[in-house]
Amino acid sequence: MVKYALACDTCETHFEGWFSSSDAFDAQKEAGELTCPQCGASSVSKRIMAPAVSGTKKQEISKENRARVAQMAKAVREHVSSTHEYVGENFADTARAMYYGETESRPVWGQTSLEEAKTLVDEGVPALPLPGPFAPEKPVDQKKLN
Ligand SMILES: [Zn+2]
Repeated sequence: MVKYALACDTCETHFEGWFSSSDAFDAQKEAGELTCPQCGASSVSKRIMAPAVSGTKKQEISKENRARVAQMAKAVREHVSSTHEYVGENFADTARAMYYGETESRPVWGQTSLEEAKTLVDEGVPALPLPGPFAPEKPVDQKKLN
């Protein structure tokens, strides 16, 4: 079975259809058996599924979403960088020490390898990965140390 995203050329309704094969789709279309559920016209065609070629309206929505995500990311960055202590490469050690009560518990952020992050999670340390855009910029004074 194959699922096709379909569109009616007459009323521009979008719908989906299941076919046993792409040949079955062609056969049904040629026989005029394929009709629009909205207006009943047989002028139905397959829709191209690539979002890059979708209309202006969709582009506006995605632009809006991108702006919203960027705004959210900025808020998270500002929140983390203003409330969390930057511990740089020592993140895993610091998080672990806090978890085991070896050091004062406080909100921190920093860098660690994917492997270390997985180990932390396995140990039950409540560390969360920040996706790229959500991670704060490295503090300026930390850059000077390098
Ligand atoms: Zn139609």
